[in-house]
Parts: sequence; C-alpha cells; structure tokens
Amino acid sequence: KAKDAGKNTYLFYTMAMTVASYERIGMENALREAIKENQFIVYYQPQIDLKTHELIGLEALLRWNHPLEGILPPGRFIAFTEETRLIVEIGAWILKQTCFDVVALHEEGIFKGTVSINISGVQIEYSDFLRTLKETLNETKIDPKIVEMEVTESFIMHDPERWITLLKEMQKLGLSIAIDDFGTGYSSLSYLRKLPINKLKVDMSFVKDIPKQEDACAIVNSIITLAQNMNITTLAEGIEHKDQEDYLAEHGCKQGQGYLYSKPLSLSDLKSWIKIHF
Ligand code: C2E
Ligand code: MG
Ligand code: MG
Ligand code: MG
Repeated sequence: KAKDAGKNTYLFYTMAMTVASYERIGMENALREAIKENQFIVYYQPQIDLKTHELIGLEALLRWNHPLEGILPPGRFIAFTEETRLIVEIGAWILKQTCFDVVALHEEGIFKGTVSINISGVQIEYSDFLRTLKETLNETKIDPKIVEMEVTESFIMHDPERWITLLKEMQKLGLSIAIDDFGTGYSSLSYLRKLPINKLKVDMSFVKDIPKQEDACAIVNSIITLAQNMNITTLAEGIEHKDQEDYLAEHGCKQGQGYLYSKPLSLSDLKSWIKIHF
C-alpha cells in the first residue's frame, strides 16, 4: 500500500512538472505575442508635493492588456519576463512609449512635471541599456531633466560597482536617479555613500503602518533624516490615508504617491483626472 502511495506521488509529481513546463512555454509564447501585438500599455500614477499638494510627477507602470484576462498588473508577469529576459525588449518599449506620452502631455500644456520609469537589473545585465537610453532621448526629444530612472536596492546590491558606473553615466545625460522600495533591500550604507542618487522612495510596507506603529515611524523618520543629510529628496509610496500624509509631511518627507491621490491611470483617464483636480 505504501508502495502504491509512493508511486502515485511520483506520478503526480511528474505530471505537475509537465504541466508547469507547458504553462511556462505557454506564458513565454503569450508574452512574445503580446510584444508583437502591442498588448502592453503604460499606466501613470500621480506624484504629489506633500506641502503644496501640486502634481509634480508621474510614475510609469506597465500593464498587460491580455486578450482573455483583461488588464494584468506586473505582479502577474514581470518576474517571468525577467527570467526569460523578455524584459529587455519590453523595458525598451515602455521607456520609449512613456517618453512620447510625456512629451505630448507637456506640449498640450496638460502637465509640466517629471516622469519616473522603473528599470530592471536584467536590462542592464543583458543589454546595452545606456545606448537604448541615449537613442530614446534623441528619438523622443524629451528633456532628460524631467526623466527619473527608478531602480530597487536589491538590484543595485547585486552588482554595486556596475550600477555606480552606469548611474553616473545616466546622471551625465541629465537624468535623475531614485532608489525604489528603499528600506527593503539590504542596502549597505557604505555603498549608499558612493551611489549617485537624487531620491529615496520610502517603501510602502513602512508607510502602511504609520502613524500607529512606532517601529514603522522610527524607520520612516530615519530614512527621511538620512536623505536630508545626503541632500537628496524623499517620496513616500503607498499613501492611502490622510493621517499617513499628515505624519509624513510633518516629518519632512517631500513627496508622496498612493491611492489617497490616485491609482495608476491609463493616459486618457490621467488627462481627465488632471482636468478635474488641477
Ligand atoms: P513599484 O515601482 O514599487 O511601484 C509601486 C507599486 O505600488 C505599483 O504597483 C502601484 O500600483 C502600487 N501602489 C501605488 N500606490 C499604492 C497604494 O496606495 N496602495 C497599494 N496597495 N499599492 C499602491 P504595480 O503597478 O502593480 O507595479 C508593481 C511593481 O512592478 C512595481 O513596483 C515595479 O517594481 C514593477 N514594475 C512596474 N512597471 C514596471 C516597468 O515598466 N519595468 C520594470 N522593470 N518593473 C516594473
Ligand atoms: Mg517604482
Ligand atoms: Mg516601490
Ligand atoms: Mg517594487
């Protein structure tokens, strides 16, 4: 009997493996199709000055308009695009699309702030990202001064020396650099000193628990103070409630982003949102 059970377990295991690999191939094909068929879209989430409540920036966030499942968030597919390196192509696409969109928003006089674009470590490891960046700046004629590149601590700590060189080159092009999800990625302070950065983005896992939880408040305050001492700015992510905003503003955090202001929006919804609120 025990033997049968063992055999069944084995059978089940190989079947599961097969299904998993079919699923992976299916997913990879679907993503290649998505690139070819222009199924990706850019959503934009407003970034707000916590003192003046003005709209100061937008973060570009990738969405997949799946033919059967509708609009999918990056949590459903980004890791997979990194494993398969499809993020190199998709990342180049979102960079260009975002620059075109923001140039148009500026020209239409609807928006005059900055735009933040997320980059993955896979893009810098497996492509000449600096070259892609230069080509896109030339092609879209966007003013590099309004473009901010976001990279997570974990990617940087994976290969700090390489990132330091690359980020310096990006700043030479006129771009700004923000560290995304700050506080979650084991940053070493000695590297932080060497990194050419303009902004720390306070991760929403801390923002979620302020002002009620003391430990979260302590961490948020330390990040704000650290940034102030480094002469760089701070943006808090995931602000959902007024008491979080009040706490952050009182403690010197400069900017915020979160559902309190707006969820990420399609370009046309963003335009309506701006017209209503500003
Ligand atoms: P992220 O860069 O840290 O982006 C912030 C995420 O927090 C977004 O999720 C946003 O929708 C969500 N968010 C913002 N405000 C709130 C809030 O008040 N409450 C809650 N619960 N969530 C909030 P999203 O759009 O699903 O993106 C998830 C992650 O996927 C991003 O985290 C980023 O790491 C990655 N990602 C998105 N677009 C790109 C891209 O174009 N390239 C790369 N490499 N990664 C991307
Ligand atoms: Mg980000
Ligand atoms: Mg983040
Ligand atoms: Mg993130």
